[in-house]
Amino acid sequence: MRISAAAFALAIALTLVACSSGESDDKKSAAIAEEPEAAGPRAAGGAEAKLVILGSGTPIPEPDRSGPAVAVVAGGRAYLVDFGPGVVRRAEAAFRKGVDALDVRRIAIAFATHLHSDHTAGYADLILTPAVVGRHDTLRVFGPVGLRAMTLHLLAAYAADLEARRATGDDMSGYEVEVAEIPTPAALVEVYRDDNVTVRAFAASHGADGGALGYRFDAGGRSFVVSGDTTPTQALLDACAGCDVLLHEVYCERGLAEGPPSLQAYHRDHHTSAVQLGELASKAAPGLLAAYHVLGFGCTDAEIQAEIASRYAGRTVITADLDVL
Ligand SMILES: [Zn+2]
Ligand SMILES: [Zn+2]
Repeated sequence: MRISAAAFALAIALTLVACSSGESDDKKSAAIAEEPEAAGPRAAGGAEAKLVILGSGTPIPEPDRSGPAVAVVAGGRAYLVDFGPGVVRRAEAAFRKGVDALDVRRIAIAFATHLHSDHTAGYADLILTPAVVGRHDTLRVFGPVGLRAMTLHLLAAYAADLEARRATGDDMSGYEVEVAEIPTPAALVEVYRDDNVTVRAFAASHGADGGALGYRFDAGGRSFVVSGDTTPTQALLDACAGCDVLLHEVYCERGLAEGPPSLQAYHRDHHTSAVQLGELASKAAPGLLAAYHVLGFGCTDAEIQAEIASRYAGRTVITADLDVL
């Protein structure tokens, strides 16, 4: 469903996007065979599919860590996962470092893991700012149930601004948003496909209203799994299963264990400790384990790395904004 800035109040039912396959398994296999298996940081301007960290942070407003947001870049297009605060400016920063697909005027597709504010506080920015500076394509956004209502409310909040732009003759096409809500899937399910990428969603375990999702991207012979916020799940293990890059949230076990009981109870029910992440990675066997959305609770990155390493011997990085994997 497309929500135009003028007619958002008339918006009607959404359609779950369940794309049919346009590409044979043979073609996918051939693409995989042609591409190197190794994963790891690469030059930002390269043509190979890659994962760009736009925001490595958490709800805590650390100046050097924007809110959770990443981009899979493949075939010259960017596919965002989440839009935490700072997402548009980090995309512009990546563009200026040579990732052409992150020219904000060209960002036209995004996938939300869940609707918590740290992952969505940049949504208005993502709808509005690229259009102000020249996006003409409709923004397509996929995410859990509730995304449509959030979109409508944001457009309503900016109704006066949108009307003023229309009145001055601006092309309003770049302000339109097409929303597809994804009910919590029982298994890994394809939600989007084009010539560059296949995107599958899986259920995360995060206690969020409307559900929480993780995503697997297959692009150019590489595979990227983004956990979103979650406790350890079998669904994520099934989604990764030897993926090239597993980007996963984490908290420091030692740090949380020193916190008040209510804080401990919440995080143990909604997030993944570094020790648990090590256990998870030992089963998922990614080419690279990358941590983001790191809740340190006073621990250093080295301590978190050590907790992971207590259960997992594979290559691990704790990401920073603008890292390219
Ligand atoms: Zn959350
Ligand atoms: Zn979060």
